[in-house]
Parts: sequence; structure tokens; C-alpha cells
Amino acid sequence: MKVKDTRTNQLLEFEPINPPKVNMFVCGPTVYDHAHIGHARTFIAFDIIARYLRYKGYDLFYIMNITDIDDKIIKRAKEENSTWHEIARKYEKSFLEDMEALGNKEQINLFARATDYIPQIIDQISRLIERGYGYVTKSGVYYRVRKFEDYGRLSKINPDELLAGARIEVNEEKEDPRDFVLWKFRDPSNKFEPSWDSPWGPGRPGWHIEDTAITEAHFGPQYDVHGGAIELIFPHHEAEIAQMEGASGKKPLVKYWLHTGLLNISGQKMSKSLKNFITIKEALNRWGKNSFRMFIASAHYRNPIDYSEELILNAKQKVSRIERFYFRLKEFIEENHRDSISSKQEQELLSLIENSRQRFIDAMDNDFNTPEALSVIFEFIKEINKALDENIINHNIAEKALGFIEKEFFYIFGLEFNNVLSTNDDLVKQLIELLIEIRHELRSKKDYKLSDKIRDRLKELGIILEDKADKTTWHADF
Ligand SMILES: [Zn+2]
Repeated sequence: MKVKDTRTNQLLEFEPINPPKVNMFVCGPTVYDHAHIGHARTFIAFDIIARYLRYKGYDLFYIMNITDIDDKIIKRAKEENSTWHEIARKYEKSFLEDMEALGNKEQINLFARATDYIPQIIDQISRLIERGYGYVTKSGVYYRVRKFEDYGRLSKINPDELLAGARIEVNEEKEDPRDFVLWKFRDPSNKFEPSWDSPWGPGRPGWHIEDTAITEAHFGPQYDVHGGAIELIFPHHEAEIAQMEGASGKKPLVKYWLHTGLLNISGQKMSKSLKNFITIKEALNRWGKNSFRMFIASAHYRNPIDYSEELILNAKQKVSRIERFYFRLKEFIEENHRDSISSKQEQELLSLIENSRQRFIDAMDNDFNTPEALSVIFEFIKEINKALDENIINHNIAEKALGFIEKEFFYIFGLEFNNVLSTNDDLVKQLIELLIEIRHELRSKKDYKLSDKIRDRLKELGIILEDKADKTTWHADF
């Protein structure tokens, strides 16, 4: 298995430090608002990566942090005349609901809040000061970037160029404009700002230090995989390397750096000022989990992805095709057909299944290439559908095909089709026809309120009615 690593910019053989153990950390949200679909993109991508690592037999421990103290949270508390704690817990709850609804939650072993690690943060900063990487000013404790030789290695940014472009805020008293804050002293004039005691004075942690305090507490100073969105490479991840390698003297902090590409909205960057901000809740209400995950998985995790009606409708159609195939296969198995294929035909189909499985795994082994893996799946569906059409399939083949779809494809991509009843079931078909009949009678009695209610409620369930002249037809649209 090979993974692309941002730091070395190379496709590397995946060799964890302590196999089969794999320690993975992914930067989570700052909880001051509802999470948006840009977050969803990153977290679905890492969910698929986590699922795949477990499928491969790795003993994965997956941590995501929750930044529950930050300037944005304090600002929000002030705007809503609330407290940082209430804001942080409210949006953390919202975030966890979103992760559950997206199917991302079960793979994560630990959600770690920054404020639960204050002693570890203070301990790490103390060591940085002892080793000459940290220094105290009137406004806080800062990291001395000049002392860390490798600064800029991850982002490929030349630290000297950074120096030319940087400014020092008057009140910061930093030695160097590139230095970043480790511990921010309390501003006593802001009653919305919380503080914790420290050897240097009451204050709160800077943003970067929580991640290395959390990972050091659980993984030690070195671990396997660090993930996050591409825009976090600089300064956030660069600062993490400087902190942990500075404090421990051990290199590298992380063996494989994995970064997800941007999510744009119809070619534009998503931002509150452009008013094209889409929350996860809105997207899920509109498209559902399977279509949204399919949309994300249709692009390689490192590439940018454009959210447009056209692309997500395309994903939705793919999901419908998969669903129809899945229930068709299941029905075939339940119906217990008599075998009517030759052993040569059976052999061919068996090797089709094994071949497809292998190509699917090869694609995922190649830096989690989900679009490639999907193209294998759609070719496979086409072939098995053809066998079903021509009735050259038997129970054994159908079960093996279903096994591949469920154990590899659905599990790794996190898709779920748990309608106990399929619209292919006779009973379901008859019930829908019955409702259409009742609706016709209501309409003939001009009871439009109730007839519209039937149409709308069916639509919510994914059953679309179409009125044509004197006949009503229906189709499923899950
Ligand atoms: Zn982070």
C-alpha cells in the first residue's frame, strides 16, 4: 500500500512505526458555528481512509480534536451574550450530530477537547521554554521560530521570505514576526474571555499547541498519520512540527502527512461574505448521506472538488443505480433459483468477482484512489446486471457478488441501504398503488388538502408521484 506524503511530496510505501498499530490524528473543527460542507469533505475523506486501514487489518487508533477555546468562540459568546462554554458545547453537539448523520462518527476512537488537556499543554510549553524554543513576553508565551531549523519544510515556504512579508502587532512584543503564540495572557477587560492558571500567568492556549499536547498524551512524540485540510498546512501544521520536534528533540513528528483538497462552490471559494455557505445539515437534508458521500468519494481526496447541482445530481444517480442493483441481487438470492449455468460460465463469473475485488483493492492501495475504485464497481455492476438479465447466474455467484458489494464497497465507502422493504417488493408496490387510488378518489371529491398531503408525504419517503392526464405514475427517488 502506498500513500502520498505532503512533507516529502512522495508516494511512500505505508509502513507504520509499530505495525499492526496505526495512530492517526485529524484536525477537527473550532466549535463556534454549525459545520459546513468543506468540513464534511475532509472528514468523509478521512473516514474512508480509516475504514480502509481497518479493512486492511491495521489496529487503528483515530483521534480528532475539538477546538473549544479560541478567539472566534469568545467573539461569538460576546455577540450572543453567552459564555464561551455554552457556545463551545452547543456547536460541539451540533458537530457530533453531523458526524453521526454523515456516518463518520463510529470510526473515531476519541474526540479530544482542547480544554481537557490544559495540564499537558502547560507541560509542553514549559519544556519548550527550557529548551530555548519558548519565551515569555507581556502578552504571552511565544515560539522562537528562528531556533527551529526545519521551519518551512512541510509547506515548502522559505522562512526568510516569511520574514519579509510579516508584521509585528504593536502589543505582541515578539522577537520575530514569524513567532507564534503558545500561551495567550488573559485580557482582563474582556469578561467573555476565560483563563486557566499557568506558571507564567493566567491565560489560554494558542491554537497550535492543543494538537501536539493531545497527540503526545496518547501517541507519544512520534506517530503515523496526521490528516487535515490543505489550508491547515501553513501555519498550523508547520507550527505543530516545530512544537513537538522542538520539545522532544525527536524527528519526524509524523510519518505520513495527508491533506485533503479544497471544496469550492460552483467554482468559487465558500465564504460567509459570498453567502454561498452551505452547512452539513442543509446538504444532508437535501441529498441524504449516501449521495453526499458518493459526491465526495467521486474525487481523489487530495484534489479540489466543486460542489455544483450537476455533480451532486450525478452522485445521486450513481447511488440509485447501486441501490437498484443491490436489491435486485438480494432478491435473486432470496428467490432461490434453480442453477441453469454451465461450470464454464460459473468459472468466468467467479473470476470476474475476484478480479474486480483485486482491482478495487489495488485502487485503494494506491493512495486511497476512490474514483478509480468506483469505476471498478460500476463496471462490475454492469457485468453482473448483464448476467442477471440473461439469467446466466446462480445462487453461489450472486452471494459472492453481494459479499464483495457489502464487505468491501459498502463498508469502505460507508454506504448504507437499510430499507427493509425495497420498492421492488410486491407488497410495497401494492401499497403505493392503493394510496394513488385513494388520492384519486379524494381529488374527484375535490379534497385537495388531503390528496396533496398524500403526495407530499410520499415524496418525503422518496416516492415521487407524477400526474399525467388521467393517470398517475410513480417512481422511487431515494
Ligand atoms: Zn489542528
